[in-house]
Amino acid sequence: MFDLTTRDIKYLSGVGPQRASVLNKELGIFSFHDLLYYFPYKYVDRSRIYRIREIDGAMPYIQLKGEILGFETAGEGRQRRLIAHFSDGTGIVDLIWFQGIKYLIGKYKVHQEYIVFGKPTVFNGRINIAHPDIDLASELKLSAMGLQPYYNTTEKMKRSLLNSHAIEKMMKSLVGQLNEPLPETLSPALLAEHHLMPLTDALMNIHFPSGPDVLRKAEYRLKFEELFYVQLNILRYAKDRQRKYRGYVFEKVGDIFNGFYSRNLPFELTNAQKRVLKEIRRDLGAGRQMNRLLQGDVGSGKTLVALMSMLIALDNGYQACMMAPTEILANQHYETIRELLYGMDVRVELLTGSIKGKRREAILSGLLTGDVQILIGTHAVIEDTVNFASLGLVVIDEQHRFGVAQRARLWTKSVQPPHILVMTATPIPRTLAMTLYGDLDVSVIDELPPGRKPIATIHQFDSHRVSLYCSVRKQIDEGRQVYIVYPLIKESEKIDLKNLEEGYLHICEEFPDCRVCKVHGKMKPAEKDAQMQLFVSGEAQIMVATTVIEVGVNVPNASVMIIENAERFGLSQLHQLRGRVGRGADQSYCILVTGYKLAEDTRKRLEIMVRTNDGFEIAEADLKLRGPGDLEGTQQSGIAFDLKIADIARDGQLLQYVREVAQTIVDKDPNASLPENEILWRQLKALRKTNVNWAAIS
Ligand code: ADP
Ligand code: MG
Repeated sequence: MFDLTTRDIKYLSGVGPQRASVLNKELGIFSFHDLLYYFPYKYVDRSRIYRIREIDGAMPYIQLKGEILGFETAGEGRQRRLIAHFSDGTGIVDLIWFQGIKYLIGKYKVHQEYIVFGKPTVFNGRINIAHPDIDLASELKLSAMGLQPYYNTTEKMKRSLLNSHAIEKMMKSLVGQLNEPLPETLSPALLAEHHLMPLTDALMNIHFPSGPDVLRKAEYRLKFEELFYVQLNILRYAKDRQRKYRGYVFEKVGDIFNGFYSRNLPFELTNAQKRVLKEIRRDLGAGRQMNRLLQGDVGSGKTLVALMSMLIALDNGYQACMMAPTEILANQHYETIRELLYGMDVRVELLTGSIKGKRREAILSGLLTGDVQILIGTHAVIEDTVNFASLGLVVIDEQHRFGVAQRARLWTKSVQPPHILVMTATPIPRTLAMTLYGDLDVSVIDELPPGRKPIATIHQFDSHRVSLYCSVRKQIDEGRQVYIVYPLIKESEKIDLKNLEEGYLHICEEFPDCRVCKVHGKMKPAEKDAQMQLFVSGEAQIMVATTVIEVGVNVPNASVMIIENAERFGLSQLHQLRGRVGRGADQSYCILVTGYKLAEDTRKRLEIMVRTNDGFEIAEADLKLRGPGDLEGTQQSGIAFDLKIADIARDGQLLQYVREVAQTIVDKDPNASLPENEILWRQLKALRKTNVNWAAIS
């Protein structure tokens, strides 16, 4: 069968090679099919005609019917414009154009009946519509207009006259050529059971809906399908892996774990820590490989949970390994864990890029014999030269700095893939986690250890520096330490940002008796580590830094986090930065410094930060404000970007629902062989082929 939709877009009438190349470059549209799946971002009701006297300043697009009373030109140069006075008998509207003036005067006639369409603005008591769409009333069939689709376009497209209207016309011509239905992409059983519109109807109606009800049904069908295949893909991989690898079984909790629990554990576990440990223990004993994402706000005590999980591995005769994204963090984990295990007969080693020569060799051979039971390190631990006797569990700290490919390399380190525990302090809303890491089970530590004082967050304007420095001075006099964070290292001349270098000099002048260290992303790692070390050891009272300090550094004595140009940071980043303080028993502060002029979004972000310390609440708010594309962690997976119609922030419920649908199918048809699902498996295969990100899921 010849499939029309595979045809090159340049052959669509009204396109041609030049426009085709713009569509290729700007929107990635190469075929009829690609265009058909370029969905409108909104619809405007064109079935209704408004009266001029009904117009108020807050209206979206509206439609008027009337005649032009006369033309007028005004302004000079770039301000030159054509004004047409348009009336429907209830009032007058000024139609305004800044381009094509000569052409327009020739085109539109006085005292003809027109339908005018556009967005009204009210200015000095006069109503304007700039660059309206105009049609002869006699030529426009209103009843047939229904909802008009609007398509996103780019600046480059507009220069080639490819505006939303032009896309709409192409789409009309494309849809007009579809004489027979497209091959269905969901099975008849799914369509029937979930009352879904057939594919072809859905596509027609998503572009040219005859009314709101039909539109809703079309949207539902397409969103359902999109989310369904995302989930089917993830769950299918998970199933394959489950069948391929049985996973080590850690049957018992033995002397090492119990000894630690009764003698070394310096405090009572929080209820959340207990619950999560139970979840992990169940996984480890279940006879399938664990893939668990452990979410918990900064300071919630994930390290301890990780350590106790590793001790279970040791109790069962296996080794464990923990990876951190930076050398400093690896060091910190090493120190912490050595301290926690004090007096116990467990061999822990640290392996980073800077550990070389004899020491390195000793560690490597200790790993091969099994003498080294816990290895802590950076990426260095996944190098080819590092081999274990029996690696049973891997803990990865701060997930988003570790790519999927790096996780996959762990597979090769032992006979069976080890159990994996991924820890992240960037809380991810549940819906997003399901899409991104659908094959990971999620545990949440949603409780801080007792006795922590919530960090007080304050929003302060730039101009109140004197009082700001007074507070800093007070904290330093009490022996505390202070972070000052800047968004960028070097800024373009245009935007007046205090850049880090300037800030550093300024702070040195303000606090001449203090030691100030400086850290930014362009430094050599050794230099950076040395500066960080000054702060960790307490020699420096103030650290001036860019966001490199975001991840993990633990300096309980630091009590103030000042974030300069806070308007330049996203919510989750602000929250991460704030988490650097509040680690000791004293009251800590986070001060968000901004200029006076703030965009609405920024104001909201700052309000949320001031209001709450709850990472999950912040993550949800972030998802709503920014959409999933910008969230940390999504870049790496790319999946959230590929969604054409579903929206993870808004369609969370549907996502949950289709996940269950997909799960049922995978469970009932583990070999992907049932005839009733043939369409589904074929479609999944096709999608994996065209979608790079889909194949990369671990
Ligand atoms: P995270 O890695 O989740 O940011 P950490 O594991 O670094 O947090 O823990 C933060 C601090 O809280 C550490 O100093 C740790 O010793 C302490 N801590 C962890 N669990 C508890 C607990 N149950 N009670 C008291 N303090 C705890
Ligand atoms: Mg940590």
